[in-house]
Amino acid sequence: MKVPFYDATREYKLYKEEFDRAIADVIASGAFILGKQVQEFEKAFCNYTGAKYAVGVANGSDALVIASDILEFKNGAEIITPVFTFFASTSCIARLNGKPVFCDINEDTFCMDMKDAENRITGKTKGILPVHLFLQTADMAACMELAKKNNLAVLEDAAEAFGMRTMYGGEYKHAGLIGDFGIFSFFPTKTIGGYGDGGMIITNNEELYKKATSYRTHGSLKKYHHDYIGYNSRLDTLQAAILKVKLSHIDNAIGKRAEHAAIYREMLKDITGIKLPVVKNGNKEVNYVFCIQAEKRDALEEHLKLKEIGTSVYYPVPLHLQKCFEYLGYKKGDFPVAERLCKTALALPMFPELTKDEAVYVCESIKEFYRK
Ligand SMILES: *Cc1c(COP(=O)(O)O)cnc(C)c1O
Repeated sequence: MKVPFYDATREYKLYKEEFDRAIADVIASGAFILGKQVQEFEKAFCNYTGAKYAVGVANGSDALVIASDILEFKNGAEIITPVFTFFASTSCIARLNGKPVFCDINEDTFCMDMKDAENRITGKTKGILPVHLFLQTADMAACMELAKKNNLAVLEDAAEAFGMRTMYGGEYKHAGLIGDFGIFSFFPTKTIGGYGDGGMIITNNEELYKKATSYRTHGSLKKYHHDYIGYNSRLDTLQAAILKVKLSHIDNAIGKRAEHAAIYREMLKDITGIKLPVVKNGNKEVNYVFCIQAEKRDALEEHLKLKEIGTSVYYPVPLHLQKCFEYLGYKKGDFPVAERLCKTALALPMFPELTKDEAVYVCESIKEFYRK
């Protein structure tokens, strides 16, 4: 048996006619830039998440840069953000000459440690950029308490967090709706992924919404009249049409992910040498990435590779040890939890069309490794 880490072709085969029709309709209409499918998808995205406003942009990284720009995470402002995440969560701050201030993560959730974040607040702190990683959101109740007490803006990197909800103010709220802005990525592997790049910015604030809409078309709402120095970053109409089809099947897809996760949890629970992910802080998880913490991780990865099982290491190097962030002055040992998890984390195959047999085979192969 051969188990891919991820495979987009299985879903395409499942709904081929719907995807083909959606793509053909865009081409036949001849309207490629901000065609009607973009607005339709934004509306459907609002319906699903409960957001008041959604702005489709070219990718999740651009969404982060645009939102950071609007919230003024720039020109020396200090922004507190976790050291264990995808690069784009931090580069958006650094690109605009803001100063990323890293904090460590919680060893159960992989998300930022809000106590550590609190200790790093100074008079120059302007914002917090929490990241909702793998299967749950950061502790948003603690995050908003810090933000309110210190008058900070909050940008939620919800790139991985489609469908995730967390208890806040007595109700479950969708990821990305608690801070000032939330951003999403439609990179193909994400819970809702396109057939190319795509991203979304959501907010409940009308003024921020208007700015985001303007920023994605060179800071202009009226053609050739520019209020801001913006960007050229729009969600592609073809991608919007594809994503609309995906959104119509998303609850089924999220349910399938949960079934695979249940198999992993059941079959791996008694293996010493493995720690399963823990869901905390009143989260309703979505199994975007199923990441175990494994002793002898590299040898396990090699063993699974020989069995033709795809895995992935998120993330091998914490951001404070990346060459491009040397100028921030951090050193090895500064973030012990993140540094440890970079050596033990291993993501297992997880996508809706994975089969039960495949999930079982992954677990048996892991068991075999630790029996040796
Ligand atoms: C995927 C991802 C991004 C970037 O999204 P792109 O659409 O690939 O630009 C940002 N932050 C996190 C945490 C991500 O996982």
